[in-house]
Amino acid sequence: MECVDRARGAWPRYALLPLCERAHVLRRMRREVLRRGDEIAQLVTQETGKPELEAFAHEVLVVAALLRYYERLMPRLLRPRRTDPGLLLHKRAYVTYEPLGVAAVISPWNYPFSLVGIPAVCALSAGNAIVVKPSEVTPRSGALFVEIARNALRAAGCEEAAQVLQGGGEAGAALVDAPPDIIAFVGSERTGTRIATAAAAHLTPCILELGANDAAIVCADADLERAARGVVWGAFSNCGQACVSIERAFVERTVYARFCELVVKETRALRRAIPPTRESDIGRMTFPPQVPIARRALADAVERGARVLCGGGGEGLALEPTVLADVPLDAVLHVSETFGPLLPLCPVESAEEGVALANRGPYGLNATVWTRDRRRARRLARLLESGSITVDDALVNLSVSSLPYGGVKHSGYGRLMGEEGLRAFTRTKSILEPRLRLPREPVWFPYAKRGPLVRGLLRRLLSR
Ligand code: NAD
Repeated sequence: MECVDRARGAWPRYALLPLCERAHVLRRMRREVLRRGDEIAQLVTQETGKPELEAFAHEVLVVAALLRYYERLMPRLLRPRRTDPGLLLHKRAYVTYEPLGVAAVISPWNYPFSLVGIPAVCALSAGNAIVVKPSEVTPRSGALFVEIARNALRAAGCEEAAQVLQGGGEAGAALVDAPPDIIAFVGSERTGTRIATAAAAHLTPCILELGANDAAIVCADADLERAARGVVWGAFSNCGQACVSIERAFVERTVYARFCELVVKETRALRRAIPPTRESDIGRMTFPPQVPIARRALADAVERGARVLCGGGGEGLALEPTVLADVPLDAVLHVSETFGPLLPLCPVESAEEGVALANRGPYGLNATVWTRDRRRARRLARLLESGSITVDDALVNLSVSSLPYGGVKHSGYGRLMGEEGLRAFTRTKSILEPRLRLPREPVWFPYAKRGPLVRGLLRRLLSR
């Protein structure tokens, strides 16, 4: 595939740049992302229909922060690391982290700049070339990221190390079959499964960031007003089309009625406009096929006896933020990802019951816990089967570049961001070299003479 070949051709030169020069590339990218921040946010808003402030915070700043993090830490994180030589005290052991080659980045439409930018920045920071396949729904935001990367790479003479491939699923499938050296995919579980299957034929490693149905656990001792504001933000930001959106809230029964009231009050206060203005909180659904999915999930919950506390209507792509009570646990809203502005509130006898219900589903990306009790929060965080947990807040994990990001179970595997997300794009090489050069190693032939001595020595060393 031509774009993969071009990236591969430019890769050795990029990979061989000293790490401080690689950090300069990241710095140039960060500066351009910030300088063109308004342009990026406006483009994302045009393509997705989300408010510009959201686009700026969740796309421009998140990518700039990650660039800054790796710009500063990458040279240290990728330095060869000494390890314990174990019984071989006369040797020196260390590991090195080398880039893999060409990383394919295949992205969805809901955060079209940051979900291209996050995996691509991890890949580039680790010394790989990239081929980005943006979503066909939002092609220009991804292309703009690649333009910025190419501008930064040009000064180092490796502009071709960043490529863009436009097109739909067939283009993505062809890219997977090229094959690249690693695939970072963010998107649906269905496509992720297809990609993992196709990649297996080439033994290409994959990082998969897939769907989710994230839960909020609201404890009776929470600051309920803050929790209501936070849950409403976590559920309706980007019109509920975030992989880490709060998709259901389990609320301890003693505060359930009060919490429902507060959530309804906060939801009714949200300002909607299409296209979004500077004052609006909520824009439109991005992807028209998502609308009937959300409407069907709402109808299904109502048919099963759920009560609509507010919202429920809306025309075309302008779905109203909708709060539901008493949604039965077998409703679509509980068993699958909906990706829309729907928030079911469910009473539970205890936070632990809420955790058990949250864990019952197939996904686990980012759960939230709302309580004033730090010890309790930590205990619940340990019990939740989820790639990340946010206490008393929502969605913000992605803005903390040092925290690895990724899911468990059907939400995918592998990590982006943080130390793990950088090393994920490298090949770990283990090296053992002599510190003391002996004429003959103790365990070499002939065994006859030294066998008992070696055995005794090693046994003694190990039993210490
Ligand atoms: P999608 O799976 O339909 O498409 C994602 C990307 O994959 C697109 O670029 C698409 O063209 C490409 N693609 C489609 N078929 C392909 C194939 N056979 N081979 C290779 N590439 C292929 O997802 P979407 O509708 O764009 O995005 C919504 C989904 O993304 C939701 O399920 C959401 O939860 C998920 N998502 C997950 C995260 C996360 O970090 N876990 C973040 C955002 C979105």
